[in-house]
Amino acid sequence: MTYHQISDEDLDEFIKISEKEGKKYSSREDARDAASNLVGFFDILIEMDMEHRRKDTRLKDEPDGFAFPSKGRSCSLCGHHIEGDMWWDKWGQKCMDCHEAFKKKIIPGYCFKDHDNEKHITLSKISWKFDIPTQTLKKMIREGKIRVRTVKGNGTMVALRKENLNLGDILRKEKKELEKRRAEKAK
Ligand SMILES: [Zn+2]
Repeated sequence: MTYHQISDEDLDEFIKISEKEGKKYSSREDARDAASNLVGFFDILIEMDMEHRRKDTRLKDEPDGFAFPSKGRSCSLCGHHIEGDMWWDKWGQKCMDCHEAFKKKIIPGYCFKDHDNEKHITLSKISWKFDIPTQTLKKMIREGKIRVRTVKGNGTMVALRKENLNLGDILRKEKKELEKRRAEKAK
């Protein structure tokens, strides 16, 4: 973060406002640090807002979206941190592999905005949420208990709710059997 030069006048004003809000700084330097951090924080917010606006403006001319440097951001579907370019469209930001799967209609667009997992869930998230090893889940896929769609390249597997209507029940049942096996092993 860059250091922000705050004038004495502005600092006086900042201290006054802070006191009104019930915040008292022990020294002028403390107040200056706090003000400087705040300015830095707002700079980031403004920069983010400007970027959003620039992207929205571009989307009007390029409705299918466009590539942009990821700067270490992560994909909203697979969650991977991305080096190089990402894709931006009305569904938000995604890595190139996931975008390719979207273009080929393997992954529906709504998955990228379904942050609460109401309509989809990735296999790694199932594994984490239900504490079931990925190997077990892959076996369940082979047995036809879970239906997934796979993103070519990064290998992310996605289960759609509409194709896995009883997923919750199936996973809970598997989890119980898993715990039984674990308990027997521990004997
Ligand atoms: Zn991705």
